[in-house]
Order: sequence, then C-alpha cells, then structure tokens
Amino acid sequence: MEIDKHKLYDCVIIGGGLAGLCLAIQLAKNEHSVLLIEKNKYPFHKVCGEYISMESYAFIQSLGVNLDGMNLPKINQLNITSHNGYKISSPLAMGGFGISRYTLDNQLAEIAKKAGILVIESCNATDVKLQNNIYSVETNKGSFKSKLVCGSYGKIEPSFIEVTGEKKKGKYIGVKYHIKTKIAENLIELHNFNDGYCGISKVDNDTVCLCYLTTTKNLNENGNDIKELERNVLMKNPDLKKYFTESKFVFEKPLAISQIGFRKKDTYKNDILLLGDSAGAIAPLCGNGMSIAMRSSKIISGYITLYLQNKLTKSELIKQYDSEWNKNFSLRIKTGYYLQKLFGKRFTTLLALKFLNNFPFLFRKLISLTHGNKF
Ligand SMILES: Cc1cc2nc3c(=O)[nH]c(=O)nc-3n(C[C@H](O)[C@H](O)[C@H](O)COP(=O)(O)OP(=O)(O)OC[C@H]3O[C@@H](n4cnc5c(N)ncnc54)[C@H](O)[C@@H]3O)c2cc1C
Repeated sequence: MEIDKHKLYDCVIIGGGLAGLCLAIQLAKNEHSVLLIEKNKYPFHKVCGEYISMESYAFIQSLGVNLDGMNLPKINQLNITSHNGYKISSPLAMGGFGISRYTLDNQLAEIAKKAGILVIESCNATDVKLQNNIYSVETNKGSFKSKLVCGSYGKIEPSFIEVTGEKKKGKYIGVKYHIKTKIAENLIELHNFNDGYCGISKVDNDTVCLCYLTTTKNLNENGNDIKELERNVLMKNPDLKKYFTESKFVFEKPLAISQIGFRKKDTYKNDILLLGDSAGAIAPLCGNGMSIAMRSSKIISGYITLYLQNKLTKSELIKQYDSEWNKNFSLRIKTGYYLQKLFGKRFTTLLALKFLNNFPFLFRKLISLTHGNKF
C-alpha cells in the first residue's frame, strides 16, 4: 500500500508486536483507518518463552490466524526445579499452547496488511506531538498525522516517553534460543538457577523454545559473557546442564534483550494511549504477558471505536480504559511481581517449592491468580 503523508489517520499505532497488531486488525474491522509503525521487518524472532495461555486461543483465531490448522503443542503440565534439581509438578488448569513469535507476529502482520492497514516496517517512531487535537508522529520515514496515537512499543520506553518514579532501566536481561531436543508435547518446564529461571517448552515446527531471565548483575559477574554465565551459573542446575550440553541449537547466537523491568506503568502518558507491555509488564514466569497484551488490545479497541464515533469524549476514553485495565490486570501483575521476588533466589526458591509441594491446592491457586478467563 502507498504511503500517503498527507492523510489524517484515525489512529497511528507505534509498535507491531502482539498488542499493536491485534489492535490494528480490530480497528480495521470497525472500518477505521490505521497506520502501524514497526521498527523491525517481519518476520523476526523475539525474546519470549512462547507459551501462550489458553485464554487467548479463541481471540487469536477470531482475528484470522488458523491455530487449529497448525497442529500446535497443547501444554497442560508444569514441572519446576530448584537450582539443585529439587522438582515439583502441577497440572495447569487452563494450560496453554506453544507457537513461536516469528510465526505468530508474522501471520498477524499479513492479516493486518490484507485488512487494508498501512504497515510500515523498518520504521522507528522518534517523537509524538499533539496540537489542536491533531497528532504528528515523527519517524525515520517521515511524519504522519492522526486523530489518536497508541503506544504498543513494548517494555522499553522510547525517548519521547517521559519516565518518572522508578528507575528507568530495568535490572533484568532475557535470552532465548530455539533448540532441537526431546520434551513431552504437553509439558512446560521452569528451571531455577542462582538469580534467574529458564522456561522450556515446545513450539511449532517441532522446535523447542529455551528462554531465560536473569539479572544484569549476574551477567556482569560473569564477564558480560552469556556463554560464561550459562556455564558457571545455569548449568549448575542438572536439568539445564542436560539441555545445554545435549541439544542441537538452531540459532547461531543467543537472542538477548536487556534493561527489562516488571511493573504496572500508565495507560495514558505524553498524550499517548498505552497497551501491552507499554502499560505494564508481568514477570515472565507467569507465562502470561502475551495474553495480557492481546486482551488489552481488545479492551482499548472498543473504547477507541466509541471515541471515533463521537460516543465518548477523549477524557472519558482515557478514564474508562484505565479503569477497565486495572480491573483486568492489576492483581495479576502484582502477583507476578511478588512471585518474581520469590523465585530465582536459591534459598527462597527451594523453600517455596518444598512448601508448595506439600500444599498442591495452594500451588494451583497461585498459578490461577496469574491467569485470566477466556476472552
Ligand atoms: C524472557 C521473557 C520471557 C517471556 N515469556 C513469555 C511467555 O512464555 N508467555 C507470555 O505470554 N509472555 C512471555 N513474556 C512476555 C511477552 O513477551 C510480552 O508480554 C509480549 O511480547 C508483549 O507484547 P507487546 O506487543 O506489548 O510488546 P512487544 O511484543 O515487545 O512488541 C513491541 C514492538 O514495538 C516495536 N517498537 C518498539 N519501539 C518502537 C518505536 N520507537 N518505533 C517503532 N516500533 C517500535 C518493537 O520492535 C516490537 O516489535 C516473556 C518476556 C520475557 C522478557
């Protein structure tokens, strides 16, 4: 589709991950004109554990992704180990499925393009200004005008978003590989190590996703070298040692991101409506950030349509979206925050696992607190 720099779009969306892509498709279905800006080029890999809770399955299908036809692994069992190999297991009441971000984001981007959305790839949004109710979004590919701007740029704030309060830089790093190894289709494993944990489960294409989170400090203490960190720290866990030494690694190099933090942020900042991780990221051990991102797109798309149809004022849109967001996600993000503090520390993890092993109903309750209902 041609880029029309003089057009006034109903909505410009900054960031084409799950939140941005799902929002774009829903707005297009409601016949709004949408421009989506993504700084990478599809398809591309992303640091993510790639386990999606079942709550989003029907929603993703409703957007046009044929999950049923992809023979994806369905996951309903969780095994957790402590740094020294102490193991507990629990069935997952709702469970999830595995699909790589390479596949899922790309399929959604294709659907968005077919729905008439202008998707500009390799395009970095650098500034957003609001004057006389018209937004200007500055990018390396020119300036675009719209009635609304949504930010779905993910965990790390771009320079035009002012960050107040907590420290700007998150203290975690994430690393991902795709590997070929044997693991049961229905299983997700969570292996703890000193100051971190690693999730392992199957995705599409008979591939296994191995993804871990640890602190920047842990990496620094291992000479800023990911391989050293894996040798010295992760491989102390006997299960992880087995995966690292006996699997075939598909990526030549690890895929890594830094400066990640997990907390609730704002749903409206610098005149921009925020969704997905931009509004608040949940700790990955809950395996639920993707569902929160997609669910937040569903919530906000309804309010945006009402606003564009002049049925809501801008301040009503901001207020009602914020209240709905909090109702849906505040408790889940808080639970994830405290779980994150408990796991990945050698002593507390072992204690917590032993405790949960004796009280399986509490274990299941804890898991359910991080999950939402189907939408
Ligand atoms: C280690 C780790 C493991 C995880 N594992 C899981 C898991 O197993 N299950 C789960 O549900 N969740 C998991 N998550 C969380 C999940 O990855 C996120 O919650 C989810 O990706 C959020 O989607 P999003 O669309 O908000 O952001 P993203 O998917 O991060 O998308 C943001 C997009 O914005 C683009 N962008 C950023 N800035 C700009 C800019 N200025 N201009 C243009 N484009 C821009 C980026 O390129 C990116 O494509 C994990 C997270 C981490 C860190």
